[in-house]
Amino acid sequence: MTVKAYGAHAGDQPLEAMEIIRRAPGAHDVQIDIAYCGVCHSDLHQVRSEWAGTLYPCVPGHEIVGRVSTVGADVSGFKAGDLVGVGCIVDSCQHCEDCNEGLENYCDHMVGTYNGPTPDAPGHTLGGYSRQIVVHERYVLRIRHSEAQLAAVAPLLCAGITTYSPLRHWKVGPGHKVGVVGIGGLGHMGIKLAHAMGAHVVAFTTSESKREAALALGANDVVVSRNADEMAAHAKSFDFILNTVAAPHDLNAFFALLKRDGTMTLVGAPATPHPSPQVFSLIMKRRSLAGSLIGGIPETQEMLDFCAEHGIVADIEMIRADEINEAYERMLKGDVKYRFVIDNASLAA
Ligand code: NAP
Ligand code: ZN
Repeated sequence: MTVKAYGAHAGDQPLEAMEIIRRAPGAHDVQIDIAYCGVCHSDLHQVRSEWAGTLYPCVPGHEIVGRVSTVGADVSGFKAGDLVGVGCIVDSCQHCEDCNEGLENYCDHMVGTYNGPTPDAPGHTLGGYSRQIVVHERYVLRIRHSEAQLAAVAPLLCAGITTYSPLRHWKVGPGHKVGVVGIGGLGHMGIKLAHAMGAHVVAFTTSESKREAALALGANDVVVSRNADEMAAHAKSFDFILNTVAAPHDLNAFFALLKRDGTMTLVGAPATPHPSPQVFSLIMKRRSLAGSLIGGIPETQEMLDFCAEHGIVADIEMIRADEINEAYERMLKGDVKYRFVIDNASLAA
């Protein structure tokens, strides 16, 4: 099937309209008409070759929501008309220890929704900046939010699960003081989710203009991280810090805010490394530095259900597909509250 899409032919070229081929659904496949696709900073890193190994043409997009149009003969969990989502994963080996534990995100053979290996043309996966996608049923998520919320649900498929998974893994809850660093697409979800889990949440931002907005998202306090006095007021007080920043920066300033045994988990994936942190700032208080990658399929479903139950969606700004290049420039300036979402109907025009 030929499908309208939006992507780039090289890292130094803007994204443009293109046509791609989707496979005919196999026995276990679900074919989805994509209604909306969120715009993740990872899309920009990948399509501009800021990360190694980008394959072209590159069609980004891994925050996909839409309706099932048809299913393969052996699919029992989904039927035409269902509201569904697809996140960052469209395949994995399905038999290793990670897959067996529902942690497909850590499978050595995990296939990303874009730029991953596939026998389908053109030999690598193509993402959600497109009208349709065909995905094995194991990697399709059920959406229980109302249809009216659908566009704002899209960012949960990456920004939501990438923040939910570490908050759960490090057992964030009532009585915990939690920091969220970088109030963009991931960070704003981190605030909402940590708040809903009952933690005391402090937002760290470089943007003075986000101070009020972060409180409205559910933060109990906001720190402008460039202000040393504001930072010092929180010294040695955090149980957990989730760092979503998309650029290299000084990590020591945040270690100083962790209590004894506190952990800072990095989910931001900058194109160049952070300056190496000081070993002593870890040793002295038995602090930990960790990382976390999206989340597995069962946990992604758990997160979607948690959000539906708690009335949580992303704060979004809807764009047409042909506004994507401008949206990337604004994202780089931190000028989005807080996630761009493409209206995929605009691809048909
Ligand atoms: P985003 O919307 O652009 O948000 C990133 C935020 O980081 C910005 O809003 C800004 O927040 C802060 N920031 C940006 N540049 C900065 C700088 N030079 N110094 C300090 N702060 C800066 O991006 P996103 O979509 O949330 O993604 C964030 C990062 O996570 C990206 O690197 C992305 O690739 C990565 N990611 C990782 C995973 C994973 O599984 N680990 C999944 C998805 C995305 P303030 O204005 O508040 O300072
Ligand atoms: Zn993402």
